[in-house]
Amino acid sequence: MPIYEYTCTACGQTFSHLWRSIQAASEALAPPCPSCESGETQRILSQVAVLGAVGGLTPGEQAAASAQQARQASITPKTQIDKLRDSKKQG
Ligand SMILES: [Zn+2]
Repeated sequence: MPIYEYTCTACGQTFSHLWRSIQAASEALAPPCPSCESGETQRILSQVAVLGAVGGLTPGEQAAASAQQARQASITPKTQIDKLRDSKKQG
């Protein structure tokens, strides 16, 4: 879930808001200021954090990494291939 930082143009308060999804954050209006309840808030674009990211990987990169691990795990070990080759020679 993304956390976006906002600043209130009315009172200068900065605050963070946790969104359910990046899509919700982009579609919804900026949340009102928790200090003065003004709607005049602006998102600070440079301060975006995503919970759940590990080791600097994006969720997409994590999915790709785990998919690659699964693929490597399913590769037949070389010793097993050698056994298959031997049995074919004899057969
Ligand atoms: Zn304010």
